[in-house]
Amino acid sequence: MENPFLNAQKQIEKTAEKLKLDKDIVETLKEPMKILQVRIPVKMDDGSIKIFTGFRVQYNNARGPTKGGIRYHPKESIDTVKALAAWMTWKCSIADIPFGGAKGGVICNPKEMSQGELERLSRGYIRKIADIIGPDRDIPAPDVYTNPQIMAWMLNEYETIVRKNVPAVITGKPLELGGSKGRTKATGFGVAINIREAAKKIGLDLNGAKVAIQGFGNVGMYAAKSLEEMGAKIIALSDSKGGIYNQNGISVEDALKHKKETGALNGLEGTKEITNEELLELECDVLVPAALENQITKENAGEIKAKIIAEAANGPTTPDADEILYKNDKFLIPDILCNAGGVIVSYFEWIQNRTGDYWTEEDVDKKLDEKLTLAFSQMAEIAEKEKVDNRTAAYMIAMKRVVDAMKLKGEI
Ligand code: NAD
Repeated sequence: MENPFLNAQKQIEKTAEKLKLDKDIVETLKEPMKILQVRIPVKMDDGSIKIFTGFRVQYNNARGPTKGGIRYHPKESIDTVKALAAWMTWKCSIADIPFGGAKGGVICNPKEMSQGELERLSRGYIRKIADIIGPDRDIPAPDVYTNPQIMAWMLNEYETIVRKNVPAVITGKPLELGGSKGRTKATGFGVAINIREAAKKIGLDLNGAKVAIQGFGNVGMYAAKSLEEMGAKIIALSDSKGGIYNQNGISVEDALKHKKETGALNGLEGTKEITNEELLELECDVLVPAALENQITKENAGEIKAKIIAEAANGPTTPDADEILYKNDKFLIPDILCNAGGVIVSYFEWIQNRTGDYWTEEDVDKKLDEKLTLAFSQMAEIAEKEKVDNRTAAYMIAMKRVVDAMKLKGEI
């Protein structure tokens, strides 16, 4: 398994060369500004005490308070959290929202834990990181295997500690606690907006376009739903247990129902089973990796048939694979832009919490569409002007904004 943080650093170096940044500045950008590691003892349902390890990494706060989700995963590591925190910095910057980047993670397997155990773990984690978070310091949100309920427990724990109402300390909350309309679907919807813009750019008719999506969680599912509404045909879907395929199209509604009833996608009537590896190499127009890192590598990049690769997940493509895809003339929408919809609506949630003025879903969707469409066009313009791949173009814009902010503040 490639180390995602080394990949994140390679991307910084590659962009720094294009931006002709001084060596000292590059060194500053290559490491996070703060790393916190915590031990969280949790009373399990059987009476035993289990100690979990958690992290919070604040990467860069030049453009505003740091922002980033919390991931619960058995294979979570400090390197993954550092990489994700770096990517959040560039993501907030390319989306042009006034936040820096951060990320949190806890090594655990939520699938094997009861609701009570998860609640005690979530509260314990917040008690350990409460000192370094806050609406003007660092604002967590959900990520893989965390959800609005977990955000609600975390908010309640934080508010109990500081003894006041502070909904803006965490985003991705349930609507009843100050969550934003349109937040749950925002990342997946944003992926679809990016694909719509990419299709326009390369002259692909999205109506009837064949789409394969790896990962059917929050992001993959809403991307599938939004793309289906835009007229695309979802021909393959997958989750951690494997994938399903039907070249005539899969109804997202049916897939969702089947997954709810059986716990997996496999076995949906009218579909053929495929592996996650086969899904990536399918004959299709759009490929959406929406699961985990390092899925497209130098081993399989050459086999990818899709014209558009929309990085809904964070870091699904390794740097070696990037070069192969660019050489093969694939239109890649880089993660920092492709999945920025979630953090953009998190920013809208933060504004609504601070002003007390709550928006309609139509307003949220419209503002999200405007922000993403603008960022997409800025990326496409730089890619053409500088003759670089889309990822490098997005990084050039994002890193330049961060460096400019650091320079103006006198930090570098
Ligand atoms: P999720 O937990 O809701 O879903 C993850 C999905 O991936 C599940 O369907 C799971 O079965 C599947 N999966 C896990 N391992 C897999 C494997 N080896 N092969 C295929 N599928 C596998 O998580 P999510 O929130 O949808 O996040 C997915 C990706 O999107 C992550 O990279 C995350 O960092 C990124 N992301 C999420 C958000 C957000 O708002 N949720 C925002 C930006 C980026």
